[in-house]
Amino acid sequence: MKRILQDLSLAEIQSLVAELGEPKFRAAQIYRGVMLGKRISDMSDLSKSLRAKLAEIFEDEPVKVREVFTSADGTEKYLFELADGNIIEGVLMSYKYGNTQCVSTQVGCRMNCAFCASGLNGLIRNLTAGEILAQILVVNARHGGTPEKRAVTNVVLMGSGEPLDNYENTVKFLKNVTSEGGICVSARNISLSTCGLVPKMYELAEEGIPVNLTVSLHSPDDAERARIMPVAKAYAIADILKACDYYFEKTGRRYIFEYSLIAGENAGREHAEKLIALLKGRPCHVNLIRLNEVKEKHLAGISEKEAYRFLGLLERGGLSATLRRQIGADIGGACGQLRASRLKEEKGE
Ligand code: SAH
Repeated sequence: MKRILQDLSLAEIQSLVAELGEPKFRAAQIYRGVMLGKRISDMSDLSKSLRAKLAEIFEDEPVKVREVFTSADGTEKYLFELADGNIIEGVLMSYKYGNTQCVSTQVGCRMNCAFCASGLNGLIRNLTAGEILAQILVVNARHGGTPEKRAVTNVVLMGSGEPLDNYENTVKFLKNVTSEGGICVSARNISLSTCGLVPKMYELAEEGIPVNLTVSLHSPDDAERARIMPVAKAYAIADILKACDYYFEKTGRRYIFEYSLIAGENAGREHAEKLIALLKGRPCHVNLIRLNEVKEKHLAGISEKEAYRFLGLLERGGLSATLRRQIGADIGGACGQLRASRLKEEKGE
């Protein structure tokens, strides 16, 4: 695989341009082309010879849109093809205030949660910072967006992969995507979701990029959590909460817990009561999700009525909570339904 131009910051492009012996102003042109989601071959303001030089070093189109599925509710699911033939998925959801893109950070995932499709084949590889960024640049461009007038207004790191298990690339991505002069999505409009890798949560608090921190909790009890999330054997809920409080102290950002309601596992009255005892008084919000179906997994969700009952218990117990609207499930684009695949398998070879 060649290198990925979208991995580079403006400063890095400036050094590259110097190394190539090109005039300085080319750096801004290249960076602008990248932020507009262009392929190298489409950067028509560059000289032909520079385009040729760049194309020798870098992938022309490291993240290609292979297919787009549109849900009845308007949600779009993207299949992106990477330069090595791996396929990752992404989702674009439109809301009144703008469009939120859900991006992947890894091909596959190591965490192997019992309810999620992303870890079915384990971790295949980490995405580079540029491969994460390019997902956004490409979708923004497709929707007529520019860095000044973004079509993608919000970003959630909630696609396949565990962002904090790909820490260096994720942080580099966050620096580039929030950088002035680039596509410049504000950290307040970015949410990073983690299964709770405690040491990395502390590190993230120190980066000076105050993104919204979301933690996939799914149970108020360590032993029960470990049944559905193997990572819970490594990190106790009490330690996750301490890390969340530290994050709040450092960034001033309220944190969010994701809680997918699974029949017979975590959706009983006793779970609601334990959750209230655990979270009451903390600067947090609970996002309930009804489990989405994953055909290889044999877990079931609960009814909408039961989900509202659970929500009511949390609210009466003094928690700030919402039940997330289920969107994109008809195209396999809902939470936990995103997966990795290979070009070969898709063609049935
Ligand atoms: N690895 C990160 C990012 C994934 S975000 C994390 O664990 O947070 C995707 C969210 O969807 C997580 O909260 C995940 O636990 C949740 N999820 C996974 N499978 C699901 C399913 N089948 N139904 C509903 N939510 C699911």
